[in-house]
Amino acid sequence: MDWFQKDPKVDVNDPMIEVIHFLNLYSRSALGTTLNNVSGLAFANFFASEIDTRYTGQYGTGDVVSALKKRLSEFPQLLTIKTLAPVAKLISDPNSVTVTYVQDGLAFEAKAEAAVFAAPLNVASKVIDRFPEIAPEHHRLIENMQYAHYSVHNVFVKGHVFRDSYDTWLRASDPLDTDPTDFIIGRYQDPNINGYLGMRNFESNPVDDYGIITIYHPLPLAEVGKGYRDEVSILAAENATKRIEQQLGPLVKAAGLDLKIELIETNRWPYSIHIASPGHIEKAAPLLTIPVNRIYFASNNLGVPSVEEALYRGKVSADQILEALKNQMPYFGGVVLETPKLSMAESISGDCFPLYCRSSSVLAAAVVISSRLTDKYREYRLEAISAARPFP
Ligand SMILES: Cc1cc2nc3c(=O)[nH]c(=O)nc-3n(C[C@H](O)[C@H](O)[C@H](O)COP(=O)(O)OP(=O)(O)OC[C@H]3O[C@@H](n4cnc5c(N)ncnc54)[C@H](O)[C@@H]3O)c2cc1C
Repeated sequence: MDWFQKDPKVDVNDPMIEVIHFLNLYSRSALGTTLNNVSGLAFANFFASEIDTRYTGQYGTGDVVSALKKRLSEFPQLLTIKTLAPVAKLISDPNSVTVTYVQDGLAFEAKAEAAVFAAPLNVASKVIDRFPEIAPEHHRLIENMQYAHYSVHNVFVKGHVFRDSYDTWLRASDPLDTDPTDFIIGRYQDPNINGYLGMRNFESNPVDDYGIITIYHPLPLAEVGKGYRDEVSILAAENATKRIEQQLGPLVKAAGLDLKIELIETNRWPYSIHIASPGHIEKAAPLLTIPVNRIYFASNNLGVPSVEEALYRGKVSADQILEALKNQMPYFGGVVLETPKLSMAESISGDCFPLYCRSSSVLAAAVVISSRLTDKYREYRLEAISAARPFP
């Protein structure tokens, strides 16, 4: 404490202000908005996970998806993956669910004893038939939830001009709520770069000079509802790049280099971060995990915006369904779910690298479906799949 107070960089009249500034940036980046609007529990969950070793793979969350797909593909007779097939309607009664999805311009219908709803919760009232009537409390809670849009800009630069840290937080002397929060070295995990193996501080040079600075840019909550059109995305990318240039440029220059931008590529992710506002974790989420008839919810929106939360929620809803159906549906009788205590790193088969990056690990869970599936269950699944048919 003595050492802290004597540091000339600490403002004696407001010693915590720099910490608060940093945590506000962090909170905007990880939880979608500033500290005063987020649940303390959600913040603690995220922040506690940052002071441990973090893991990522070359393709980030894509590696998690590939690992899950690989594991599930071991049961080809049970698995049908459909992409580019948005669900248009879900009708549920106390015994079944009917799903209408659209593929190649045709509507298809599939029936099941239960369904897991893993889309963001704000989609529920758009696709679940008569949602406000059959689930008024869920509907009310979801209507009250706020979401943030998020842009991620890849700025292609000549050379690997900044190498001091993987993830760098920036606060301008004239901060704006439209500012980005941080940037990462976009090719840090690229095997041709291996940023974590020596290029830091210019100890060695990568084989090429194609640098990427990836800017994290949560948009202000006020942007939601205004239309996240091309013009909005392009303007956000240009402004964010300008702000990063203003702050990073002098640092690069001090190292005797130039920040030369060659191309900006921007990605928009609308409604991607739900705001876990005060009370969300303790009051709203437990109610939202209650199924609506045979629809079970498994979105990260039930907790904090993180991949581990999404995995955990998937497992919880699978367990809920097995529990609810085991006595009623004989075909499910033989299904055994094993839940070995695998860490996220182990579950994606060792393809990870220790790294200090953002994510929440406390809820990590991995589901392995036992090979002891009964033939009955397989038949049931095949029936369900063949029941999918074009809509007249
Ligand atoms: C910029 C950014 C950086 C992040 N970084 C990290 C990080 O470092 N670590 C971390 O742990 N988390 C991170 N997150 C959060 C993490 O990405 C999310 O928490 C996670 O993706 C949530 O997974 P999910 O499956 O619950 O939801 P989503 O990933 O949102 O998936 C929901 C899916 O539902 C689909 N869908 C929507 N409507 C329909 C419909 N009608 N029919 C069919 N499908 C539909 C959507 O297309 C989408 O694919 C980050 C988020 C952002 C925006």
